[in-house]
Amino acid sequence: MEKRDYYEVLGVSKNASKEEIKKAYRKQALKYHPDKNPGDKKAEEHFKEAAEAYEVLSNDEKKARYDRFGHAGMGNAGGGFGGGMTMEDIFSSFGDIFGDAFGGFGAFGGSRRSGRRTNKGSNLRVKVKLTLREIAEGAEKKIKVTKYDTCESCGGTGAADSNSMSTCTTCRGSGHVTRITNTMLGQMQTTSVCPTCGGEGKTISKKCPVCYGEGIVQKEDIIKINIPAGVGKGMQMNVSGKGNAARRGGVHGDLLVVIDEEEHPDLIREGNDLIYNLFISIPDAVLGTHVEVPTVENNVKIKIDPGTQPGKILRLRGKGLPEVNGYGRGDLLVNVNVWIPQNITREEARIIEKFKESSSFTPKPDKNDKSFFERMRGYFE
Ligand SMILES: [Zn+2]
Ligand SMILES: [Zn+2]
Repeated sequence: MEKRDYYEVLGVSKNASKEEIKKAYRKQALKYHPDKNPGDKKAEEHFKEAAEAYEVLSNDEKKARYDRFGHAGMGNAGGGFGGGMTMEDIFSSFGDIFGDAFGGFGAFGGSRRSGRRTNKGSNLRVKVKLTLREIAEGAEKKIKVTKYDTCESCGGTGAADSNSMSTCTTCRGSGHVTRITNTMLGQMQTTSVCPTCGGEGKTISKKCPVCYGEGIVQKEDIIKINIPAGVGKGMQMNVSGKGNAARRGGVHGDLLVVIDEEEHPDLIREGNDLIYNLFISIPDAVLGTHVEVPTVENNVKIKIDPGTQPGKILRLRGKGLPEVNGYGRGDLLVNVNVWIPQNITREEARIIEKFKESSSFTPKPDKNDKSFFERMRGYFE
């Protein structure tokens, strides 16, 4: 089926503001809501179509991509939901759009809030500094963190013992309460979080003395992280479930690892390539030589041909850094400079003077040498 233009779906212009887009979506969603159109497949399609359009147009980045490339720019999964977006997805993503019209979106169909609420712990953020060698090889890092962990004394329940914990009498353990209300759209069954237990389904009469009923305590922990080869400064890794524990037995938050890079004493990183600034003497440039250059792992010997001009770049294939989560490696680029001494003795000056008499030392410009483009790249804008 041909996809309709998202702006057309919501009935807004391309210049519509965020607020207008939100309003338009709300209107569509209320119109085609399954509770108002029971068993109507067409309405359900419209409802999903509007949710997909809103998912894209309400997100600055996705909207910009859609404006430039249309549906083609959204990948085959549409705006992240595509045809695979279920009603549950829509409810959990955009529930808040309906605001107080329905006394909370959990109301619809009564099917959404079927379980007790699960708390999620907050995310923990750490910075890891790596050497180029660790980046080249991948690294296992142990990091000391202070974080919230499950209280061992009560097993995370927050109760002093099993007798001091009982099923909530308000919601009978379900964590939510249901009531019938009259709204502008007729009678609606609304479900909301139980006010007595806060959705946990249990109440505690005597709190755990170690965690004071929270179910979590602050602890020091050593976390082992495997960092893949090829990462770069500023990259972030998500280690799911290694963040802070949640109050009273929910799921742990995530550990966010931000990568930092230690300066290498000799090598400069440029993407996956490495650059080494080599300086050779005038005699070596003229006569040729063998020199050692550093790589991330060790030193390698390279040959400098007789008559090598300064500014020549030697490419050592595969001696750079690996692609992160991929195949292939960058190169090591050796930028050959010729060292021109600035303070010389009278004797040396006399020898240099002699070179002037030789025709071999007269410069011969080479218009075909385009290596300066490479070297001057930084100066062009
Ligand atoms: Zn406890
Ligand atoms: Zn309750």
